[in-house]
Amino acid sequence: MNIRLGRWQVEYHQRAIHIQKQPDPKCQQCKGNGDIARGPGVGLYGEEPDLAPCPCWDPYRSLRIPLWCKPAQEAWPF
Ligand SMILES: [Zn+2]
Repeated sequence: MNIRLGRWQVEYHQRAIHIQKQPDPKCQQCKGNGDIARGPGVGLYGEEPDLAPCPCWDPYRSLRIPLWCKPAQEAWPF
């Protein structure tokens, strides 16, 4: 289940809740897309530009809230 609160994306999973900040929809650099084209751009041979994340957000950073602890691991008999 996903919930969006402004710029925050909240994902509810069975074991944890993940919260991540999304790109700024008013950003001048990415226009809310979250990616900035870097590199040579589209060339003669159809190369596509490299996409880098915009500084208005960090796609690799999120908050994870575990909902319960793992059960204690069972010891193997040997
Ligand atoms: Zn941006």
